[in-house]
Amino acid sequence: MSPRTDRAAWLHDPAATCNPAPDSRTRPWRLVLLGPPGVGKGTQAELLGEHLGACHLSTGDALRAAKCLPADQRSAALSDALQYISRGKLAPDSTVLAMVRERSRCLSCQGGFLLDGFPRTVTQAEALLGMLRDLGVTLDGVIDYHLRLDEIVTRLAGRRTCASCKAVYHVASRPPRVDGQCDQCGAALSQRDDDRPEAITVRMEAYARSTAPLTGYFRDQGLLLTVSADGSPDTIFQRTLQTLTSRQDLT
Ligand code: AMP
Repeated sequence: MSPRTDRAAWLHDPAATCNPAPDSRTRPWRLVLLGPPGVGKGTQAELLGEHLGACHLSTGDALRAAKCLPADQRSAALSDALQYISRGKLAPDSTVLAMVRERSRCLSCQGGFLLDGFPRTVTQAEALLGMLRDLGVTLDGVIDYHLRLDEIVTRLAGRRTCASCKAVYHVASRPPRVDGQCDQCGAALSQRDDDRPEAITVRMEAYARSTAPLTGYFRDQGLLLTVSADGSPDTIFQRTLQTLTSRQDLT
């Protein structure tokens, strides 16, 4: 199991060095995690990240980290995207792509990556494959998590996130050891603005409209791996590993 990196280059400054630097792997895993908000992508990205040594690259986490920066330290792309996030609306493709391009070093990192929350539209997916082609990097697969809507709403309402290291908990199924406090770093846990009921509805509509068509796009590319997100985080994790093993030797 690899020590958790602080993802400094993704979250704080594209020129920063991550601590610890991800292990250089002869076989780095490069995956996209797809699925509606609340399906558990963030939790699976953390579990997979520890197991595969790949870095969890969430565009939502990068935006929430940018919220804490003084305005003059945010790139134009970050400042623009932040205007959309609290309303639960998707940021424009051009803005998100500029933000990811600023961080493209993370895409060719020798530790590999687990993209979470990006791409969210077919335009973003086409741009991602173009960026990876230019970097000489191959995408191993796109894991598409499925779950019933009522179960998704329950998961979102109980989700709590660490303000500092972004670790994800759930009040019922994955509670922290100390109520309201992160197990990893001790910082306070809070509910995301966009996990409140009015923003959840907007996000689910945005998913159905913009992101669901991505599954067809990646299926056509021969990259889609469908996984049920029913059950505990560990059950889903084991199911994901089985799916990856059936695609490629995990050693
Ligand atoms: P997430 O944590 O992935 O649910 O993202 C939180 C919010 O950040 C979304 O509701 C959007 O406002 C914004 N966002 C993150 N990633 C993207 C993306 N790939 N395209 C558009 N907006 C995004």
